[in-house]
Amino acid sequence: MFRWIVSYIVLSHYLQLSYSMTSRIIPRALSEVSTTSPKQFKVAVIGAGAAGLVTARALSSKHGIQVTVLEKNKNVGGVWAYEKSKHRPMYKNLRTNLPKEIMAFREFPFNSDTNVKSPSFVTHKDVQRYLMSYCDKFDLEKLIQFGSQVEQLRICVEHKSSIVEEWPQIELAWVQNGTRHSQTFDAVCVCNGHYAAPSIPTIQGIEYFKGETLHSIEYDDPLDFAGKTVLCIGGRASGADIAREISAHAKKVYLSDSTCPEPLVDGQPHKQGNVLWVPRTEAINRDSTIVFQRCSETPQVDTIIYCTGYDYKFPFINEKSNLELSVVPGERRVSPLYDQLWHAYYPNLTFIGLQHSIVPFPFFELQAEAIVSQWIESSDWKLPNLEERLLSAKQDSNSGGPNGTRIQDTHFLGSFQWNSCLHYAKCAGILDQDLEDYIATNKAIYDDSNRNRKALFPGGDDSYRNMKYIRQDSKRSFQVEIITNDTVSL
Ligand code: FAD
Repeated sequence: MFRWIVSYIVLSHYLQLSYSMTSRIIPRALSEVSTTSPKQFKVAVIGAGAAGLVTARALSSKHGIQVTVLEKNKNVGGVWAYEKSKHRPMYKNLRTNLPKEIMAFREFPFNSDTNVKSPSFVTHKDVQRYLMSYCDKFDLEKLIQFGSQVEQLRICVEHKSSIVEEWPQIELAWVQNGTRHSQTFDAVCVCNGHYAAPSIPTIQGIEYFKGETLHSIEYDDPLDFAGKTVLCIGGRASGADIAREISAHAKKVYLSDSTCPEPLVDGQPHKQGNVLWVPRTEAINRDSTIVFQRCSETPQVDTIIYCTGYDYKFPFINEKSNLELSVVPGERRVSPLYDQLWHAYYPNLTFIGLQHSIVPFPFFELQAEAIVSQWIESSDWKLPNLEERLLSAKQDSNSGGPNGTRIQDTHFLGSFQWNSCLHYAKCAGILDQDLEDYIATNKAIYDDSNRNRKALFPGGDDSYRNMKYIRQDSKRSFQVEIITNDTVSL
């Protein structure tokens, strides 16, 4: 009943038309559509997190395209710019769940001093420092307008009676220091992240719950839960990590997740120390106790933390945007997009980093290169025509993700990410032996660290982090060293 439906379907006359186009087709790549040379293109990037920075780098310093980055905060880094706030997802003691040797952008490794005995899993401060050094190294700060919140995006098209291939200019309006600005650009890259709109499931009987509820976006310090009994709903990487942190101070932590293994002996939770792993949370009883599927324990808890992820949100795309973009909260699906990157109608509007369960930074880097390939004359590969893009976007958005299972998995990749990396690299025209070795090495390290993490009791110890990886790209392999407490130096 409370399922919100926000579907920005404007230009509805477009939808009513058949996908087959008999009308005039304007040539497809921007370099052909526009009379401006690529270097005179004006491109806006929304957001200066990891995605925005690497996109700005690919466009500006590599290809000399004119770039303006609009960033609402006062600093770069996005989620990694930690600030104690109920609206920011980063928490005080977070250490990465991926090794820095694969997290880094390809052309700018994390300080990889093989002599330093420190684990590969670093703090949020380290990642933020890394992104700031990246910014310095490629002189990106001069492109960024800080404190600029984009409020409106508008495709500059007049009413049309037929679908034609066109890459119209895009107008952005933003507010900086209380003043509203607007400007048109030849292209816009949307890099606004997707950790800002908490997704909270409906739990039957939640109105009977007498304790406190919060979403993981509000979580910061495990000491806030000292002596309490806490239920974390959702046991993916961050749910398990939050449960682990809290368990050091709380009385008990229930971690409720569909991955909880069967069978439960006598209906009892799996247990390690004061962490209890239970199946899905089914309902709340009238006396505020919690019901888990197939579990006979019905505990009272003081706090429920929803570690249930986020929805996509583009507040600057709305009914004034002249744009068809469907974003349905709860569905975790954005459409119509070609290759989950280019807007199918207007490929000069791109969305970087929508995918999840990936190694984000290198993935963004390849997407950024693929985008640029459409704007430079030398590129061999061009996007297919509008008809093909629309068809492909439609199929993709109904596919249920690479496993074809759930609409919510449309942007899930996991083990499919390596093929996507190769695909974007091919689109970008940069796939060579070195890049293939690099992607294969990322996969080898990712698989190893993932296996180590998943072998542990979720919410239990995090010894998977006591590793130092050393890349061996030419062998598509790695070496690994276990870092003991004596050698750790973070
Ligand atoms: P963000 O970092 O969210 O950046 C988006 C930027 O856009 C922000 O700076 C924001 O201020 C700006 N913005 C948004 N809206 C507007 C607007 N309207 N106008 C102007 N600016 C706007 N990744 C890993 O690789 N390893 C990890 O261990 C890891 N752990 C994580 C732990 C947590 C708790 C979270 C939340 C994420 C983690 N990630 C991890 C994923 C991380 O999000 C990505 O690595 C990456 O930083 C995402 O970058 P982004 O640029 O897409 O988004």
